[in-house]
Amino acid sequence: MQANTAVTRLRRGVQTFIMLLCLWAGWRLYLSVGHFLNNGPAVPGPAAVDGFLPIGGLMGLKLWLSTGIFDRVHPAAIVILSAAMLVSVLFKKGFCGWICPVGTLSEALWKTGGKIFGRHFKLNRSVDYWLRSVKYLLLAFFALTVLLMSTWTLAAFLNGPYWATADARMLLFFEHLSATAAVVLAGLVIGSLFYGNFWCRYFCPYGALLGLLGLLSPARITRDERACIHCGACVKNCPASIPIDKKKAIRTPECNGCLACVAGCPAPGALTVGFGKLPAGDAGKDRVFSRKAAFLYAVLLIAVFFGVVSAAMATGHWASGAPPAGYRALISLTRVFKK
Ligand code: SF4
Ligand code: SF4
Repeated sequence: MQANTAVTRLRRGVQTFIMLLCLWAGWRLYLSVGHFLNNGPAVPGPAAVDGFLPIGGLMGLKLWLSTGIFDRVHPAAIVILSAAMLVSVLFKKGFCGWICPVGTLSEALWKTGGKIFGRHFKLNRSVDYWLRSVKYLLLAFFALTVLLMSTWTLAAFLNGPYWATADARMLLFFEHLSATAAVVLAGLVIGSLFYGNFWCRYFCPYGALLGLLGLLSPARITRDERACIHCGACVKNCPASIPIDKKKAIRTPECNGCLACVAGCPAPGALTVGFGKLPAGDAGKDRVFSRKAAFLYAVLLIAVFFGVVSAAMATGHWASGAPPAGYRALISLTRVFKK
């Protein structure tokens, strides 16, 4: 089996697994909230949904780092955020390209749009530039808000009713989607059909953080001009619309480390992925990994992410310790407010 084919299959396998896991977690959340609201069967809430609460995770991370106190209400939010950040520091924005279900959906819509319209679209360069800054503004807002919060305020929020019911609120948000939210979601879906990574590229503050961390990564994707046959396959396959065929190395926070470019390149040695600095003009030599080691890069990325999650599970830092009795009263109140 070719290393590049193996990488593509591995990525599809990981993305499919995560999507199925999210569907399962969504169903379990529905059942567990239903138990409290409608006296359905008792089902433990799935910790994996905490991955959709990154701002609370950031607050928990700050509290943990500054005081040593680890949030017990939604601990998996800290674990998933930390694992995503670590993956990004090591493997570019690899969480977005390999793990994030929103990234997977975004890419699937983009590919579907390509099939429907027979081509991919690009926004005007200056519109694209200004729109990309939106996600950094959102990141700056959330990061500054959390950074400026005192330890006492953080602890009060993480032990308060809003955070305790954050997962139930998320479920109720989608169950009782407002007209405004429906229009925004429809706009994002339509935008994703036309433009690669529409949500991720322009609006996702989580992706903005991981992209900036990815700039620290020792991982390099480089193009050897002598081996490149200028077929453009890498650009066509790139969901981040990076002009790979005009670059010697990919150094941008938009690259999500998906390796679709490397996997789809037909010219041996033209595109390579590895760690460390390349000798100038001699891609493929004296590297820790060669092009074929793209598979190893992918395996390491997956191992780091699931390794962190497994370690958290094994050490009791994953499942919520929120008391069910209090939870019942709190989400009943949430439902009242929704009405
Ligand atoms: S896919 Fe490979 S050969 Fe084709 S343009 Fe990109 S780097 Fe060059
Ligand atoms: S440059 Fe390659 S690894 Fe980066 S986003 Fe584009 S296709 Fe994926």
